[in-house]
Amino acid sequence: MKQYDYLIVGAGLFGAIFAYEARKRGKKCLVIDRRSHVGGNIYTKEVEGIQVHQYGAHIFHTSDKEVWDYIQKFAEFNRYTNSPVARYKTELYNMPFNMNTFNSMWGVMTPAEARSKIDEQIADAGIKEPKNLEEQALSLVGRDIYEKLIKGYTEKQWGRRATELPSFIIKRLPVRFTYDNNYFNDKYQGIPIGGYTQIIEKLLSNIEVHLDKDFFANRAEFAAQADKILFTGMIDEYYNYCYGELEYRSLRFETEILDCENYQGNAVVNYTEYEVPFTRIIEHKHFEFGSQVSSINPKTVITREYPAEWNRGDDPYYPMNDDKNNDLYAKYRLLAEKEHNVIFGGRLGMYKYFDMHNIVSEALKCVKTNLY
Ligand code: FAD
Ligand code: UDP
Repeated sequence: MKQYDYLIVGAGLFGAIFAYEARKRGKKCLVIDRRSHVGGNIYTKEVEGIQVHQYGAHIFHTSDKEVWDYIQKFAEFNRYTNSPVARYKTELYNMPFNMNTFNSMWGVMTPAEARSKIDEQIADAGIKEPKNLEEQALSLVGRDIYEKLIKGYTEKQWGRRATELPSFIIKRLPVRFTYDNNYFNDKYQGIPIGGYTQIIEKLLSNIEVHLDKDFFANRAEFAAQADKILFTGMIDEYYNYCYGELEYRSLRFETEILDCENYQGNAVVNYTEYEVPFTRIIEHKHFEFGSQVSSINPKTVITREYPAEWNRGDDPYYPMNDDKNNDLYAKYRLLAEKEHNVIFGGRLGMYKYFDMHNIVSEALKCVKTNLY
């Protein structure tokens, strides 16, 4: 008899949901994380009375009622709607691409005028079947928007030419012929009042959690304690990079507390020029509508997000889901399928650019497959 039914590597959203559901079904779990806090990349922390999204802006959005109902059990959500503003040199544009953007770009007023301007630029680009991100963008919104709002941001974010990137990355962004600045098309959207960490803490309550513990520092000893392992770290690292390294993109966050009540007037401002080294600045108080503004002690917290190359030992924030890496992942996946006692889950374990709603849905699927 081993001490635990499950060893769960990673106290992020995937690991925490699995642990919660396993405990509900009478399984004894040990959760470990190499970081000194729970929550993985959705971790939030209170600073100056403001919930700070420690690893970048996190907005929950989904059209799946089951996912929305599930996450609501662990926090009350506000009505935050993501509406970033993009800065290109001295120009400001609303995101995602909509009538407000088209009006600022070309002075057009009606959807028909905007459509005709974009169609003209799409025809000039002459792309029949887009083969990469640049071609996809040019055939979706034309050259002006591509040059000012997409190319620079994308190339610094991913550290590659837009012609070398897969087009799916840009397909996340809506193009609309209405005056609607909502970044997402989903039915439900919001941010948990009081931050995301409470969700993870509730999911993990009454479960043994050991922080600052790296699975690889003591692999055999950890594995010996449980019948099964749920692994939400990097799948290539789990297999000692035996087929080679998968590629990731990393980030560096620079957070500052400022003596100012309102720094940029919006939660998210994107800097789309290549020459500005960061991609966006987030001002955390606006995720909760500046409700923490105090005229007695006016402070705000901002974070600049700098894209960075990933090297072993760095935080792997984004999988690079192009064909080369997806093929390599498929080889690791074959190894994973032969395992009887190890399950892989989450953004790193499944090597997929998953948002939180995808994680909830995948974790619940994983529960059904493994715990029913
Ligand atoms: P993670 O959160 O990465 O958790 C994995 C955990 O495993 C980590 O805590 C890690 O420390 C631990 N771990 C890894 N290896 C080991 C090891 N060897 N030993 C011990 N512990 C280990 N999603 C949205 O829906 N909306 C957004 O607005 C949004 N914005 C984002 C912005 C940024 C900058 C980033 C990077 C992501 C964003 N996401 C967003 C995606 C969201 O963060 C992920 O979908 C989610 O956090 C993935 O959860 P996870 O549990 O799979 O992984
Ligand atoms: N993007 C862009 N300009 C912007 C914002 C986004 O070109 O102002 C592109 C960029 O390639 C980015 C992708 O759209 O990687 C997805 O953006 P999103 O904001 O959804 O990315 P995430 O929040 O996951 O980093």
